[in-house]
Amino acid sequence: MYTANENRYNHMQYKRCGRSGIKLPTVSLGLWHNFGGGSLYDPARQMVLGAFDLGITHFDLANNYGPPPGSAEENFGRILKNDLRPYRDEMIISTKSGYLMWPGPYGEWGSRKQMLTSLDQSLKRMGLEYVDIFYHHRPDPDTPMEESMGALATAVQSGKALYVGLSNYNAEQTEQAVRLLREMGLKLLIHQPRYNMLDRRPEEGLYAVLEREGIGAIPFSPLEQGILTDRYLKGVPADSRAAGASVFLQPEKLTEELLGRVRRLNDLAVQRGQTLAQMALSWLHRSPVTASVIIGASKLSQIEDAVQAQNNLTFSEEELRLIDEITIG
Ligand code: NDP
Repeated sequence: MYTANENRYNHMQYKRCGRSGIKLPTVSLGLWHNFGGGSLYDPARQMVLGAFDLGITHFDLANNYGPPPGSAEENFGRILKNDLRPYRDEMIISTKSGYLMWPGPYGEWGSRKQMLTSLDQSLKRMGLEYVDIFYHHRPDPDTPMEESMGALATAVQSGKALYVGLSNYNAEQTEQAVRLLREMGLKLLIHQPRYNMLDRRPEEGLYAVLEREGIGAIPFSPLEQGILTDRYLKGVPADSRAAGASVFLQPEKLTEELLGRVRRLNDLAVQRGQTLAQMALSWLHRSPVTASVIIGASKLSQIEDAVQAQNNLTFSEEELRLIDEITIG
């Protein structure tokens, strides 16, 4: 039987999520890759419990995480039941719906039917009565936004979610959604955009909207799936995402040109006394809008490395200029 480390809250820093009552750890853990399927239960358990011992209170899931889809929630549910049940009130657990989960016209996108039935399925797989945050995973161009936001509102009113979030909505869509939710008496807690040193799209307007509206951001793929680490500096390791079966990161992406930039970033990180992974996470925290970042991991040592980002969160003007020159210059 697992007993949590009694020092787990002594080191982690917690940051307020927008204008809300919720504080999130500097680093949160996402269960997209490496947590699905029965064979991964033991390593998944080791990473989740190890993360909790480090003060990571927030775990991010989605209906479709696996493979097979749903199995990350099932594994997480088993870990909750066997180990973390006594600590449920110390945890922020999120899930999402919107990407393809089951066949037919109701298995994806943003209808009320899809979102609320998906939430029920997620709760069942995880053995939970409620999630802390329920996200709409992506905007649906064909469903009126009123309907998708209405489903989020019902999730809260029915006690199945405490807060709501959006992911992959652009600045304009977010503004519209915030307005609709407000009319329904609901505040958007959090936005989950793709954001890292190599993918700057949230700087084109989304972060300004979030700041104005008092909404926290929690960037996903903050390490560009492992590229913004020392993982690929000496080739493609056999146990890495790029070498594995994931369709989301193919080795062809790792061009010499890109790796040249990563090497320069790595040199700067070393000068700052950080690993490149730590610097990439610290850099996202330079904005007060960033409440936390959601990393993925394939081993506990990566999570242990990532949480130390909080030891150096400040950047000089010169360092920021150099990072821009290397990444987008
Ligand atoms: P990252 O950019 O953090 O990439 C994670 C990968 O980077 C790991 O699997 C590992 O690669 C490598 N890595 C992590 N830490 C280190 C370290 N300290 N040193 C060296 N390498 C390291 O994030 P993900 O792309 O995995 O996404 C994170 C989470 O974001 C997901 O789990 C999910 O919760 C969320 N997400 C949300 C999406 C959305 O649409 N809302 C879409 C995608 C993700 P390796 O496996 O090779 O060891």
